[in-house]
Amino acid sequence: MFALLAEEIKMAEIQKANSRSKLLKLQQKVEIDSQLAQDDYQRLEDELSSLRLVHQMSDLFLEDDIFLHRSLEGISSESSSPYEEKSHWNCMICADTEVVVVFVPCTHQVVCFSCYEGRCKMRGQCPYCGAQIEQSIRVYGLSS
Ligand SMILES: [Zn+2]
Ligand SMILES: [Zn+2]
Repeated sequence: MFALLAEEIKMAEIQKANSRSKLLKLQQKVEIDSQLAQDDYQRLEDELSSLRLVHQMSDLFLEDDIFLHRSLEGISSESSSPYEEKSHWNCMICADTEVVVVFVPCTHQVVCFSCYEGRCKMRGQCPYCGAQIEQSIRVYGLSS
C-alpha cells in the first residue's frame, strides 16, 4: 500500500517535471517566434522606407513633368491649362509648402507641418486668427 503510494508520488513528480520542461520549451519557442516576428517587422520597415523613397522620387519626377508641361504650354499658347488649377494652398508662414494642419476649434488650415512643429505648436495659437489651439489635425491630401 505504501509502496504503491510512493510509486504514485514518483509518477506524479515525473509528470510534473515533464510538463515543466514542456512549458520551458514552449516559452523558448514563443521567444524564438517573437524574435522572428521582430525580424519580419524590421524587414517590412526597410521595405516600407525604400518604397517611400521610390514614391518620393516618382513625385519629384512628376513635378518635373508638370514643370515641363507648364513651360511648354507657356511658350505655345496662353490658354488655361489644367495645371493652372491650384490643387492646394501654401503655408502662410513659409509660403512654400502645402498646408496640412487644421486647428481646432477655429478650423483654420493655414500652415504646413514643419511650420506647425516649429512655431504654432509651441505658441499654441492659430497664426491666422490668434485663437487658442485646442487640437490640431494633420490632414493628407492628394499631393501629400
Ligand atoms: Zn510652412
Ligand atoms: Zn484660426
